[in-house]
Amino acid sequence: MTDGAAAPDEATAPVAVRIGAPDEVPTGAPTLPSPRPLTAPASFHVLAKPTGPICNLDCTYCFFLSKEALYPGDRFRMRDDVLETYLRQLLESQAGPEVTVAWQGGEPTLMGVEFFRRVVALVDELRRPGQVVHHTIQTNATLLTDEWCALLAEHRFLVGVSIDGPPAMHDAYRVDKRGGPTFAKVRQGYDLLVAHGVDVNVLTTVHAANQDHPLEVYRFLRDDLGARYLQLIPIVERDNDTGFQEGDTVTERSVDPDAWGRFLVAIFDEWVRRDVGTVFVNHFDAALASWVGAPPAVCIFGETCGDAVALEHNGDVYSCDHFVEPAHLLGNVTQTHLVELLASPQQRAFGDAKRDTLPAYCRSCEVRFACHGECPKNRFTRTPDGEDGLNYLCAGYKAFFGHIDGCMHLMADALRAGRYADEVMAVLAKAGRNDPCPCGSGRKAKHCHQR
Ligand code: SF4
Ligand code: SF4
Repeated sequence: MTDGAAAPDEATAPVAVRIGAPDEVPTGAPTLPSPRPLTAPASFHVLAKPTGPICNLDCTYCFFLSKEALYPGDRFRMRDDVLETYLRQLLESQAGPEVTVAWQGGEPTLMGVEFFRRVVALVDELRRPGQVVHHTIQTNATLLTDEWCALLAEHRFLVGVSIDGPPAMHDAYRVDKRGGPTFAKVRQGYDLLVAHGVDVNVLTTVHAANQDHPLEVYRFLRDDLGARYLQLIPIVERDNDTGFQEGDTVTERSVDPDAWGRFLVAIFDEWVRRDVGTVFVNHFDAALASWVGAPPAVCIFGETCGDAVALEHNGDVYSCDHFVEPAHLLGNVTQTHLVELLASPQQRAFGDAKRDTLPAYCRSCEVRFACHGECPKNRFTRTPDGEDGLNYLCAGYKAFFGHIDGCMHLMADALRAGRYADEVMAVLAKAGRNDPCPCGSGRKAKHCHQR
């Protein structure tokens, strides 16, 4: 693999000349179909990759770095006409009043600040009256400057920063092109964001190097970084040469299923005793939604998926960020409108397959309502009775969802009664030490949520 990071001068190239006024559809670009296709979701999510898979770092578990091979000889920079076509289609496709414009990579900041100035200006020009636009960007934070942070703050970007825990755990796999540590640079970027008042969401991947240290990781993120929005992402990396979702073995960097369950349980038990309502963890929010009977905000725990696609730098659209591979290419926005790609039989079948291919073992599982077999990309193991398609992380999820059931019932009951979920902390604390723990585990409180 070549070092594909953009040269510094390229990353800060001046604003390119726009083609066409904002109220003109670029010549040849598809227009919004009318009527809107019946199978199009009312709203959908697009993860756009303006630099394709190109990144200035070389994280050893990154599934995107191998995707360079899909576009041999490409410069991997989104052109202005593609940008405008994409934004126009995204904004005009949403049936609801809100839309999120989301950027990730590779490393999207390699496009330079001016690209993102152009993004926010275009969005302002193209949005419908009354349409509310949320900007988000996922970054490794190593290239952030005051200029960057001022722009992100001004336009209220929600910035996702990847940090895997304290320095030694972070640097185990998140390395630069020379294999060197990156934590210090990431921390510098993170602190700059905080100093500028930017909303930050910390993304922590869980893997062989940090899976056995859940509380060390959680307390570091909460207390040292002061993070309040946490996204935990299990690393399940197939061991193959293609970088595609193929094969049934995983690399040694991947998280162990049982360790993943223990990781979630340990953090949940700390969170439910003291941080409900002040620290937000994606898996816990999604679980609470399921216990309340609402749709989870994350696709992995939905019954079906297919409403979140990935957009490559050249306008190619793939079924999902985790399936940027030829078999899941839907088309290109310069030839087919985004809403038609979302509504296409191929994409609807992709989303429905999540439900329709669930093994019987999952269909009869008591925590199916919360898990739904998790993400199809991880379904490559066998059930105890030999059926294909069980999720690699199943053991972890069974343990986690089973463990949190009692506390989730307490929180869901409070919400249904019009109260707040955080009352669970007082309920758990006020039980007598020798009384049964209110979580329903059957253990004494002092051996359970009062430990
Ligand atoms: S394949 Fe997985 S990540 Fe992609 S949309 Fe479906 S559930 Fe979400
Ligand atoms: S916990 Fe396991 S068996 Fe249950 S729905 Fe999830 S993957 Fe399937």
